[in-house]
Amino acid sequence: MNRVYNFAPGPSTMPQEALETAAREMLDFQGTGMCVAEMSHRSKQYQAIFDEAEATLRDLMHIPDTYAVLFLQGGATGQFAAIPMNLMTGSGSADYVDSGNFAHGALVEAKKYGNVNVVASSRDDNYAYIPELDPAKFDPRADYFYITTNNTIYGTRYATLPETGSVPLVADMSSNILSEVYDVNRFGVIYAGAQKNVGPAGLTIVIARRDLLGRAMPITPKIMDWKIMDEKGSMLNTPPTYAIYMAGLCMKWLKKQGGVEGIEQVNIEKAKLLYDLLDESDFYRPTARVESRSRMNVTFTTPSPELDAEFVAAAARQGMVNLKGHRVVGGIRASIYNAMPIEGVRTLAEFMKAFEMEHK
Ligand SMILES: *Cc1c(COP(=O)(O)O)cnc(C)c1O
Repeated sequence: MNRVYNFAPGPSTMPQEALETAAREMLDFQGTGMCVAEMSHRSKQYQAIFDEAEATLRDLMHIPDTYAVLFLQGGATGQFAAIPMNLMTGSGSADYVDSGNFAHGALVEAKKYGNVNVVASSRDDNYAYIPELDPAKFDPRADYFYITTNNTIYGTRYATLPETGSVPLVADMSSNILSEVYDVNRFGVIYAGAQKNVGPAGLTIVIARRDLLGRAMPITPKIMDWKIMDEKGSMLNTPPTYAIYMAGLCMKWLKKQGGVEGIEQVNIEKAKLLYDLLDESDFYRPTARVESRSRMNVTFTTPSPELDAEFVAAAARQGMVNLKGHRVVGGIRASIYNAMPIEGVRTLAEFMKAFEMEHK
């Protein structure tokens, strides 16, 4: 067996320990004589797996009981629609920060359901930074205020959260959930597709303050109505059973790493290894502005698109794969989520130094 260092943006690398446990339990989960994927979601055995996954997530993020935790399907993109359908029923207007492709997709979707007030945007500079927020532009009557805490494609991250007063803050945390400590109480809703930093694709996590449930538009499909899904324990219909099980295994691994508090320190160190190298180099150019740098997705270019391609190919030959940047940014993107070991980042840094020496 030969595992690579997989720098993919998502679906992405998972802890080897979690994969090994899943492999060991594939044919016979703890004496049941079946794979978790073969179990009824209504069985006692499966409910225990589900409950443990939820408990682990609550523990890792210190989620208070005043928040519902939902395990849904439809990805983050499904929530682009679910958010306005569940929340845009007071003033019928919401504030959005346009900080990247996914943020933009979310606000375009929300416009189908109500009024969208774009309070700030960095679209003019290909989303290379988190835009400055002017509270004077915030609508105090907005039903919610929407941000994307980490912009996966551009490699940017909010260094500080906006102060929105009594307006609930809604955050797409798809690419940095569980990577750094957030006070859940600061948010009305946190949501994330699992396939970047939690586990496999197919699971979408929604963490919603309970007083925000029950406001949905009458047209809201049942499977997108957070209140109904909460009442049904996320099992109105068949949940993504295997993805939830695997996410549970990955989160158990994370607990052993010292939880979010522990991994955050490692993530800071991993990102610093690459940014220090980029800052010292006059060969590589980081594409995100310094004050907005992501700890999860490090984006940069070499002096030419041809060299970018050569970099990606040469790295792959040395067992470092999926480093090609997103087509809207170009260049190179190293996604270094929780499960990417620091040795993987060190190996990449060594490769970068050697590549620079060879091609300068
Ligand atoms: C990947 C990603 C999405 C899209 O997620 P899907 O689960 O594929 O719908 C949305 N937002 C962010 C920040 C992402 O990184």
